[in-house]
Amino acid sequence: MQIVFIGPPGVGKGTQANMLVDKYGVLKISTGDLLRDAIKAGSPLGNQAKGYMERGELVPDELVLGLVQEKVSIPQSNLKTFIFDGFPRNIQQAIELDKIMLNIHSKINLVIDFTMDEEDRISRLSGRRMCPKCQRTYHIKFSKPKVDNLCDICSVQLVQRSDDNESVIRQRSAVYWEHTRPLLEYYKKQEILKSIDASQPIDKVFISLENLIAPLLGA
Ligand SMILES: [Zn+2]
Repeated sequence: MQIVFIGPPGVGKGTQANMLVDKYGVLKISTGDLLRDAIKAGSPLGNQAKGYMERGELVPDELVLGLVQEKVSIPQSNLKTFIFDGFPRNIQQAIELDKIMLNIHSKINLVIDFTMDEEDRISRLSGRRMCPKCQRTYHIKFSKPKVDNLCDICSVQLVQRSDDNESVIRQRSAVYWEHTRPLLEYYKKQEILKSIDASQPIDKVFISLENLIAPLLGA
């Protein structure tokens, strides 16, 4: 049983994936984790990826797919449940992922689309603040510091990460939706697409998620 999580930044799908890992022992595969692990292990693909990242370039699809292939090709991996978190990002990657799954005699059984009102999501992301000293994160609405704009621990002025800036978020979102709409369509045609209202509180979202996944995990 293989699951894909789709959703733009800020919908909390990574948190939900981690909760599933903790409760059901499934394996999470995110591009970020794959890259970090490969670089740390110093594998040939990892070294290539490191080069791209150090030059500030985007890691190409083929390389990411190579890492996915490596990860799922360990013996018996067709018996495990993987959660692909934020991957595939576009229809080409989805087609390649289907081929990789076929190679291990498995397939994507369920795709979950985490939905949230776009303005709500943007305001959540643009409200994030960080302590430059201890890296602790806050939110101007949902997780306020005790004193306005000061870190609870260091009393240092909080900052906004440059990629949490509203115009940067909007620009990135436009690119995201351009690639994701056809991806959703691709999975919808296969009748494996389900959606979850990600604007609910975290524990409610998790219950919705379990309702979709538990019957399949038990099967
Ligand atoms: Zn701090």
